[in-house]
Amino acid sequence: MTTHIAIVGAGIAGLAAARRLRTAGIACTLFDKSRGLGGRMATRREGDLRFDHGAQYFSARGPRFQSAVEEWCEAGLAAEWFEGAYVGTPGMSGPARGMLAGETVVGGCRVTALRRLATGWMVLTAEGPVATPGNGAFSAVILALPAPQIVPLAATAGLAMPALDGVRYAPCWALMLGYSAPTRFDWDRIRPEDGAIAWIARDSAKPGRSGATECVVVHAAPDWSRQHLEHSPVDVAGALASMLHDRYGIAGETMFAAAHRWRYALVEQPTGTPCLWDAGSRLGACGDWCLGPRVEAAFDSGEAMAEVVIASQGAGHGI
Ligand SMILES: Cc1cc2nc3c(=O)[nH]c(=O)nc-3n(C[C@H](O)[C@H](O)[C@H](O)COP(=O)(O)OP(=O)(O)OC[C@H]3O[C@@H](n4cnc5c(N)ncnc54)[C@H](O)[C@@H]3O)c2cc1C
Repeated sequence: MTTHIAIVGAGIAGLAAARRLRTAGIACTLFDKSRGLGGRMATRREGDLRFDHGAQYFSARGPRFQSAVEEWCEAGLAAEWFEGAYVGTPGMSGPARGMLAGETVVGGCRVTALRRLATGWMVLTAEGPVATPGNGAFSAVILALPAPQIVPLAATAGLAMPALDGVRYAPCWALMLGYSAPTRFDWDRIRPEDGAIAWIARDSAKPGRSGATECVVVHAAPDWSRQHLEHSPVDVAGALASMLHDRYGIAGETMFAAAHRWRYALVEQPTGTPCLWDAGSRLGACGDWCLGPRVEAAFDSGEAMAEVVIASQGAGHGI
């Protein structure tokens, strides 16, 4: 039987897993509920405006991620912003778009359940069941999602994930502001040490952006985001914009203002293991919740997941 893996989640963890599996000659189909792929390495477009409203930059500490970042920089998909801090180009989703080349991706498709068949796995989506064209079932499934989204999906196949019980995420409200000309700012980023705002970035000053219009992203601090988690995006946008003005003197006429709620933004309590693998069912799980709140941690987890799947083929565990 042909090996064909279903990966649910086309964030950096799912993409890293797919990339490594492909180098071992293993085919994958990636599913993502969002049309804009890359997960929290996200770029939101509004006309000519571009906002990195999720991850702001990434560092590369380990050799494997360093080599991936070097490749992205050479391919024009990433660039150094300040010392040791890289961004995707022309937006944070740049590396994801590069990694998707050659992959089979089903975007805008929410996976709602998993079914175990005698021959492997069936993936059920909001649009209906999906099976691989060649053999009628996926030989393994990788869930590359935030931990709280893995648990209910694994449960649809009768699998418990007790290792994920202790994982905790901090939420984050992100405010995106596009300023009308002639507003120009003379700073690139501000990292307040306390208060309701944790981060202010001039996205238009990052490398590879057009810079024609000022685009600013503000991230609320975890405590403030928690307290206001269920408030409306309009109210949150107003509150954060007022703080930006009152506390930091950042003001100007805006042509665009919107708030985005990241319910699972930054891992506060990871499992500390690179990935999870249930050899009996051939279901795996990976993501930043394994190793920490960073793009690199999610990448490393995805690669570790792929290594486990590759090793399981050699060990003769194929379905
Ligand atoms: C506001 C914010 C700021 C951050 N700042 C930084 C930073 O400066 N530096 C840094 O290194 N990291 C930062 N991070 C963290 C970093 O972005 C993440 O750790 C990393 O991108 C996680 O990747 P992932 O692949 O594990 O998960 P994700 O990127 O969340 O990918 C999961 C994917 O699964 C999809 N999905 C979910 N459910 C389903 C379903 N049922 N069916 C199909 N698809 C589904 C989602 O659409 C998503 O694309 C930040 C994150 C946020 C939100």
